[in-house]
Amino acid sequence: MKSNQNNIKFIIHRGSHQIGGNCVELVAPNSRILIDCGLPLDYDEQDPEIQVKIHEDAKEWLNHCDAIFLSHYHADHYGLFNEAPKDTRVYATKETAELMKISGIFGEDLTEHLDIQPIEDTVTVKDFRVTKFDVDHSAFGACAFLFEMCGKRILYSGDIRLHGKKGVLYKNLPQNVDYLFLEGTNLGRGVRQKSEDDVRDEFIQQFNSHPDSAFLVWCSAQNIDRTVALYRACVNSKRNLCIDPYTAYVLNLVNQCNDKIPSTKNHSNLLVYYPNRFCSRLKDKRGDIHKEIVANSTKIQNDDPQKNPSKYVFVFRPNLLDFFRKHLASTSIRFIVSMWAQYWDKDTPDLKRFKNWLAAEPELRKRLPDIHTSGHADMASLQKIVEHVQPKCIVPMHTEMPEKYKTLFPSYTVLNVIDETPIELINTKE
Ligand SMILES: [Zn+2]
Ligand SMILES: [Zn+2]
Repeated sequence: MKSNQNNIKFIIHRGSHQIGGNCVELVAPNSRILIDCGLPLDYDEQDPEIQVKIHEDAKEWLNHCDAIFLSHYHADHYGLFNEAPKDTRVYATKETAELMKISGIFGEDLTEHLDIQPIEDTVTVKDFRVTKFDVDHSAFGACAFLFEMCGKRILYSGDIRLHGKKGVLYKNLPQNVDYLFLEGTNLGRGVRQKSEDDVRDEFIQQFNSHPDSAFLVWCSAQNIDRTVALYRACVNSKRNLCIDPYTAYVLNLVNQCNDKIPSTKNHSNLLVYYPNRFCSRLKDKRGDIHKEIVANSTKIQNDDPQKNPSKYVFVFRPNLLDFFRKHLASTSIRFIVSMWAQYWDKDTPDLKRFKNWLAAEPELRKRLPDIHTSGHADMASLQKIVEHVQPKCIVPMHTEMPEKYKTLFPSYTVLNVIDETPIELINTKE
């Protein structure tokens, strides 16, 4: 029994001291696997030499691994998959596997060369027996993984929260594991996170308080829970929700996995608007997809928001500004950021253009307070997860404050790890 133990180890390549960019390697006597291989969230702000190094490192980590397990389709978890050798086996939930195809349609395809296998329940890869557990996160189809090898059990939480619609799923997580790799994005932020229902109610309140304005809401098209909250708020306040072709495609794809998610194919108050610049690029690249969206969706009457602003809420992104410039130039607009506040501070050309457009008519166009809730567990929720799982040892991940885990979990063993340091799996508390 004991003889094999020195051959089992884990290495956190990245993620022990930062939010996002996760990559963890598990090594057993005859095999090794990777969990996630994400792009660091600050990648765009890095110098070119550092960006090159990020790709080179990923290539090395991804080389010769027997499989990759992907927890969800956010870029900070799979954004470096293009560095994996051809035909590398990737396991992900069927929802994640479906949604990953989107990147290839609307942007660069990072996964086309990979052998992506949907994981239903449990798979075995040489020394590893791996089971997926669905969790709630701001990515549809997110999961945690339990890795069992050579008598040891490691639970990797992935990104997780309890305040979303499916927060209760954490109660299905396995218990008494040897190691719990636990995300801690919100560690040190003492605020309780509100629910998506609270978010919906805040939208309703704002929509009703500004009955003469059209609304632009900047949210991620891939945050399905948010689009649904927004849709429900629109139904409640008798407005149409207008989405761009990308958001429509994502929503309709998810609707095929879960018919409770509204789709532009059968919800008459869910309309599609077609920004020229975005659509001509999509038409050139994927005419078939463009046609499919147009054929199956109700198109907005372009002149109606100007005439009846109170009937409209738009899902917005800065790169879609040309539509609003053209059709809502003299319309009263209220703008809400419904995503992580720091995105507003980024310095991208599209965002700069949008900020200038907003500021050009301060009476007509006003930014209201942000309406958002995190995709990550708050501190009380992290405690609930740990109380349920009862791990022998907690390993901080996806956090800028690993040192705070000891304070938050005083009766547990916490193993603070440094990126790239191999950790032999020894008996933690017998
Ligand atoms: Zn993440
Ligand atoms: Zn995530």
